Amino acid sequence: MELVEESPYRFRIDRHDPMRVPGVVFASRSLLPDAGADKSLDQVANVATLPGIVGASYAMPDVHWGYGFPIGGVAATDVEAGGVVSPGGVGFDISCGVRLLAASLDRADLRPRLDALMDGLSDATPRGMGKGAVWHLTDDTELDGVLRGGSRYAVERGYGVQRDLDRCEDYGAVGDANPAQVSERAVQRGAGQVGSLGSGNHFLEVQAVAEVYDEPVANAFGLRTGQVCVMIHCGSRGLGHQICTDYVHAMEKVMPGYGIHVPDRQLACAPVSSHEGRAYLGAMAAAANYARANRQLLHHAARQVFERVTGSDLSLVYDVSHNLAKIETHGVDGDQRRLCVHRKGATRALPPGHPDLPDDLRPVGQPVLIPGSMGTDSYVLVGTPGAPAFASTCHGAGRTQSRKQATKAVRGHDPRRELEAQDIAVRGKSRRGLAEEMPTAYKDITAVIEATEGAGLCRRVARLVPVGVVKG
Ligand code: 5GP
Ligand code: MN
Ligand code: MN
Repeated sequence: MELVEESPYRFRIDRHDPMRVPGVVFASRSLLPDAGADKSLDQVANVATLPGIVGASYAMPDVHWGYGFPIGGVAATDVEAGGVVSPGGVGFDISCGVRLLAASLDRADLRPRLDALMDGLSDATPRGMGKGAVWHLTDDTELDGVLRGGSRYAVERGYGVQRDLDRCEDYGAVGDANPAQVSERAVQRGAGQVGSLGSGNHFLEVQAVAEVYDEPVANAFGLRTGQVCVMIHCGSRGLGHQICTDYVHAMEKVMPGYGIHVPDRQLACAPVSSHEGRAYLGAMAAAANYARANRQLLHHAARQVFERVTGSDLSLVYDVSHNLAKIETHGVDGDQRRLCVHRKGATRALPPGHPDLPDDLRPVGQPVLIPGSMGTDSYVLVGTPGAPAFASTCHGAGRTQSRKQATKAVRGHDPRRELEAQDIAVRGKSRRGLAEEMPTAYKDITAVIEATEGAGLCRRVARLVPVGVVKG
């Protein structure tokens, strides 16, 4: 794959047939994926062939291989010009995302109660592959409420407070959810998992603000140096996974009828305005609401533990997805166009002044929540004016090793002891789960954030360090 360095932190893949637009990779030279081991840049080029794609097929600095689309990929298609939606451009964990909570407590005050707090959080956080959830739904109307109302429904039912909605992307629920387009199998898989973390990469982490780069913005977000925070990363569990599977199959079948040919079957797609496109978007929105309710319920459970053990509340800083397609309006070649923006392993990052931001955040811009890895720094960033890539940025450090490679690499190590030696409390479900997620399996988060800022995608606001982690 030939890359042209356009400027520091920006590389171009020139358009060649059958690409409709160029590829653009935001990265430093050392962050570029190793072409021998990771085909994600080929995937960037493949995505550029999708009908209706505008601008470029973008890759964020944390890009790595994914199903069809790379993880860390952004692609927007023009809804009125036959643009498509592709389930692989959202991913299997629909609306997986991050929620950051701020405590009114400093790290030093927490120290004597840390063990009790971690035990409490561990007990209160259902996780792993098995069953168990914060909320045991009693009937189908409740699941329907979750699919249509997201965290608004959870708060209505007593699992949270108004602030939790004010600071959530889309105020807690996306519109246009259509539970009728969610299969019976997806419902079955999701019904018993409302309010559960899942496994592996998903986590609930107690963190502390180690450094603030922009005091006024941090203030507006509700963050200050020394403060204890909680970061929750999870998604839509079996429900989202099944929806993705269902619609990849459905779209594979109808693609030829729409005259769509893609270089990789995993890029199965259909026009946004087609029956299948609309059905997928309705089901996807339902899964997005499920994921928000899921994070809301875990937040609620963590809040109760925090109040009991420390006396402190956990107030929402922000909740944002990093696996979602959204219909948004953006300027393209001087025109305002309705686009279907796919962000897969990429975070929406609205600039200051954006009308979709709540009043208190509008002057400063949207908080962007970037987990590093278990045992390393995480970051809070903010959207910047004039950013490229349809107001999108990275979503994490990004993997450099598969789960299998990561497990092999830590043979003979004790992941738990190594983390504890760094003064990080660990509540893991399994040794294997920890081994797959060691920081060595990920890119260097500092380098990713440097590239993100260098490319003008976002600005740094605060750096968070891990204090204790509850892992799936
Ligand atoms: P993904 O959504 O792609 O599964 O993961 C998002 C990001 O979360 C990963 O790229 C990685 O950087 C980060 N991550 C994975 N596990 C942990 C963890 O235990 N703690 C923190 N802070 N970040 C993690
Ligand atoms: Mn996920
Ligand atoms: Mn995720």
